[in-house]
Amino acid sequence: METRKRANLHVHLPCPTTTESFEFVIPSDPDWLAEHWNRKTKVRCRECGSAHAYSFRDALLTQMLSFEERIIEIADTL
Ligand SMILES: [Zn+2]
Repeated sequence: METRKRANLHVHLPCPTTTESFEFVIPSDPDWLAEHWNRKTKVRCRECGSAHAYSFRDALLTQMLSFEERIIEIADTL
């Protein structure tokens, strides 16, 4: 039986209390993502210890867009 490892998705979530961001590993499970995609999920914050609600759709989109910005920045310096 072939087992394929899925890459873990790491997303940086901003803490509204400290404004620092912390890393959250999204389970590499399509069902989990589908279930949480359109609603806010409470995550225990590593910065302040309390729970904040996040939209993973927004967090991932923001992260993807900032990656693209970073790639453009790197391309500009070449
Ligand atoms: Zn926090």
